[in-house]
Amino acid sequence: MDLQHWLGRATHAIQDWADTYGPYQPHPSLQIDDDRFAVAFEELTGRLKDNYPFFHPHYAGQMLKPPHPAAVVGYLTAMLINPNNHALDGGPTTAAMEREAVAQLAAMFGYDTHLGHLTTSGTIANLEALFVARELHPGRGIAYSEDAHYTHGRMCHVLGMTGHPVRTDSRGRMDLDALEDVLRTGEVGTVVLTTGTTGLGAVDPVHQALALKERYGVRLHVDAAYGGFFILLAGADGPEGLPSEPWRAIARCDSIVVDPHKHGLQPYGCGAVLFRDPEVGRHYLHDSPYTYFTSSELHLGEISLECSRAGASAAALWLTFQLLPPTREGLGQVLAAGRRAALGWAELIAVSQHLELYQEPELDIVSYFPAVEPATLAAVDSASARILADGMTGPDPVFLSTLKAGREAFTARHPGITADADGARILRSVLMKPESEHHVEYLHTRVEELTRGR
Ligand SMILES: *Cc1c(COP(=O)(O)O)cnc(C)c1O
Repeated sequence: MDLQHWLGRATHAIQDWADTYGPYQPHPSLQIDDDRFAVAFEELTGRLKDNYPFFHPHYAGQMLKPPHPAAVVGYLTAMLINPNNHALDGGPTTAAMEREAVAQLAAMFGYDTHLGHLTTSGTIANLEALFVARELHPGRGIAYSEDAHYTHGRMCHVLGMTGHPVRTDSRGRMDLDALEDVLRTGEVGTVVLTTGTTGLGAVDPVHQALALKERYGVRLHVDAAYGGFFILLAGADGPEGLPSEPWRAIARCDSIVVDPHKHGLQPYGCGAVLFRDPEVGRHYLHDSPYTYFTSSELHLGEISLECSRAGASAAALWLTFQLLPPTREGLGQVLAAGRRAALGWAELIAVSQHLELYQEPELDIVSYFPAVEPATLAAVDSASARILADGMTGPDPVFLSTLKAGREAFTARHPGITADADGARILRSVLMKPESEHHVEYLHTRVEELTRGR
């Protein structure tokens, strides 16, 4: 699709609609002439060049990429009207689109009932899930793995709850024996399971945790902010297929967070929270003297903690899902390519003399480190940092990221290392662009060269 063409069509379509209302003059206080605009615009585009090339396959660093053009057109078209999805008074159509897109997300996870909405981020979506958890189990805390996103510990603090970090195994997944030890104290009301940790992409064993739900009367919340869309590959044929058990078990958990602004091709400002039991909506009850007038139907602001939210986000997600729905044949193909890229690179690293795999990738995140002599944590740390920095300079830059691995986590995977420090930075590449699939050989060769100081 031709972005310029459709952006032009967007401005015309909205102008045609605006013209059905009476004519009026824009106020002089808002008028800017083109010459002045050109100067400021030049400065803007100039300054925006001071960025990393998130779009390019040689950017293999953090969880960053531009949105799909369909999402851009959907967002900008709706933004010309600027609906607010807080209330039906603010955006009746985009509120309906939000409900439709959220229903598609709920269906993707296998929920047969749901209450949910979009949020500005995964952070706010998780806050809402933990808030509901607190209302349902007052006085009891939250358990999450050591490798869970830091937001859980932080939001426990915000909500006045006690957080219980639980040990992980040598693949970065929550250790359920350690979890059970914590649950036996009776102090935990909700367990957060992460399907796709932010650092390594590890998937907690949701299916095995289900038994603990009954045994200890706890809620299960799934933080699938990063990994959620990988459910589209659960049980798929081919190398990209994922074991289905943890993913199928999500349907039996109480709440889910997923970030369309990570793997759903959306611009930032698009997270989502889903509850299996629609009754939890009662915990959000409040009166608004301002906004809930035009309809007695449910307004999204009545089931969310945020007030104003971009209706444009809902329009962007809705339009994207019309074209690339959250199905294996749709969005699943995008994730499959990234997953194959990660597997392909891991294979190259496994036989490399210059690099070592930190652990097998479970999703599309590859973790690795330079083979150093003597093999000490301090040497791995400084070599990783040097490769990260050197990679970004020079004529053919590659962009990686580093991850701090703790001493115990590192030695559990690589007992031969001399643990002379409390941990080491390792290298990490999130291969979330489908184009990565055809660039892993280049990335591998370049990173090997960097390891040798070239
Ligand atoms: C990214 C992420 C979050 C935080 O989401 P934001 O959208 O960045 O606020 C929470 N949990 C996990 C597992 C994540 O990957």
